[in-house]
Amino acid sequence: MIDLHLHTSLSDGRNPPAELVRLCLAAGLRTISVTDHDTTAAWPEAAAATARAGIEFVPGIEITAVLDGNDVHVLGYFPVLRAPLLDGFLADQRADRVRRVRRMARRLTDLGLPIDMDAEIGAAERDPSRTIGRPHVADALVRAGHCVDRTEAFDKYIGEGCPAFIPRQGATPEDVIELIMGAGGLASLAHPALLGRDEIIPMLIAAGLPAIEVYHSEHDEFDRQRYRRAAEKSNLLCTGGSDYHGEESGRPVALGSVTLPAAEFERFRDRLFA
Ligand code: AMP
Ligand code: ZN
Ligand code: FE
Ligand code: FE
Repeated sequence: MIDLHLHTSLSDGRNPPAELVRLCLAAGLRTISVTDHDTTAAWPEAAAATARAGIEFVPGIEITAVLDGNDVHVLGYFPVLRAPLLDGFLADQRADRVRRVRRMARRLTDLGLPIDMDAEIGAAERDPSRTIGRPHVADALVRAGHCVDRTEAFDKYIGEGCPAFIPRQGATPEDVIELIMGAGGLASLAHPALLGRDEIIPMLIAAGLPAIEVYHSEHDEFDRQRYRRAAEKSNLLCTGGSDYHGEESGRPVALGSVTLPAAEFERFRDRLFA
C-alpha cells in the first residue's frame, strides 16, 4: 500500500518522523512520502527509518502558495534526498509563518483570548527548519482552555473568514510549480476538492503541473471519479495519500485507509525517475 501525503511533528503533525514510519509499517504501508508544510527537515530521519523498516521512501513536501487570498497547497516529490534549490525559498516561507502566527496570537489577545505560544515559537526559532502554523495556534487555544480541540479553534477563530484569521501573502501556485519542476521534482496539486477552485487547473497545467492529488482523506468517491477523469483528459499523473497528521489532529484519518493504487504509482515513479 502506498501513501504519498503524510505530516510529521517537524510541521503540524503529531508524530516525529521515525515514529510515523513505525505507524505506517504497522498499518501495512510499503511506500510512503513525508510531505511536511514548507520544510524538508524530516527527510533524513524518515529516510533512515524507512530503510531500516525495508519500505520505500519518496522525499516530498507540501508548499503553501497563494492565489487571490486563497491558500493553494502544492505537493512536490523528488527522486533524491536533496533539493537545495528550494532551501532559500522555503526558509522565507517559514519565516513568514512565524510572523503570521505572532500576529494571530496578538489578534487573539485583543479578542480576549490570550494564548501562550512561547514553546512553539521558541522551537521554531531554535530550529528554523521546523514549520509553525495555524494548527499550533489551535493547540495553544486548547491549552488555554478557550477551545476543546483543533477543530473548534479553526471553526470559531482561525479558519478562513474567522475573527483571528490573518491572510497570507506569498508565491503563486505557478511560481511554486516552476520551482519544484526546476529542482528536478514533480508537482501535484494537493486535495483539489478542498481547494474548490477547479477553474485554475488549466492555468496550472500551462505552468507545467504534471499531476493532481486524486486520492485524499477529504475526497469522497465522487471527487475521486471526477479528478481521475480530469487527469485522464488532461494527461496528468495521479497522486494520493491520507494527509495523516496524527491522532487528535482535528483531521482524523486512519493510516492505510486512503492509498494510491499501485498502477498509478508505477506511472508516477516512472516519470519521477525519467
Ligand atoms: P497554515 O499552514 O498555518 O495555514 O495552517 C493550515 C493547516 O491547518 C492545514 O494544512 C491543515 O493541516 C490544518 N487545518 C486546516 N483546517 C483544519 C481544521 N479544521 N482542523 C484541523 N486542522 C486543520
Ligand atoms: Zn497540515
Ligand atoms: Fe494541505
Ligand atoms: Fe497536508
